[in-house]
Amino acid sequence: MDLFSKEPDLLSLSYEEVKELALKCKKCPLHKTRTNVVFGSGPVPTDLVLIGEAPGEQEDLQGEPFVGRAGKLLTQILESVKIKRPNDIYIANTLKCRPPGNRTPSKSEQEACFQYLEAQIKFIKPKVILLAGAPAVKIILGTDEPMSKVRGKWTSLPWDAEISVMPIFHPSYLLRNASKTKGSPKWQTWQDMKEVKGALEYYQSIRNLAGEQED
Ligand code: URA
Ligand code: SF4
Repeated sequence: MDLFSKEPDLLSLSYEEVKELALKCKKCPLHKTRTNVVFGSGPVPTDLVLIGEAPGEQEDLQGEPFVGRAGKLLTQILESVKIKRPNDIYIANTLKCRPPGNRTPSKSEQEACFQYLEAQIKFIKPKVILLAGAPAVKIILGTDEPMSKVRGKWTSLPWDAEISVMPIFHPSYLLRNASKTKGSPKWQTWQDMKEVKGALEYYQSIRNLAGEQED
């Protein structure tokens, strides 16, 4: 790494080097109040990535994403379609440090932190990215449309059309809206997850087919 450059080009580093930089990062004021940087966790590379909002209290204390109440619900949602943590999914957030009191990330914090997310996606090379909640939708897709409008609609990553993207409700929102009746946010999320599982199986079957042809 060039010791004299203040802003190393993260895309030219390795995953571990980027993670090391993030763990020491002071690019936005959240570094002053964090306990731990929550970089993200899961296999690299892998087919599925979920991007949440920012670490909460438990995540800040433990240094791992989605380990509090919302995280437990997320684990259940994933397991409902046989996606298992930690092996089947890489989980990250738009911000790597906790905003005090879990307030919504500011635009400047999201912009300062975006380089890490961009590098993570480059290393992970997913087929599918789930955007859990409005802040993830905003930073990746650049839209302010309400979640009720964008959830469950496939789109692609603006800078890589080969990567499919689906916005889903944030697990914290589902904790506040616990009904499972048909048409409820939880029910809708289950429909979304079945679609996601179908897409992952499709990519896997293509890979299996390509493998067979090589034999
Ligand atoms: N909510 C998030 O958006 N991310 C976490 O890691 C935990 C809760
Ligand atoms: Fe750095 Fe991101 Fe933490 Fe801000 S939130 S200090 S940009 S790692």
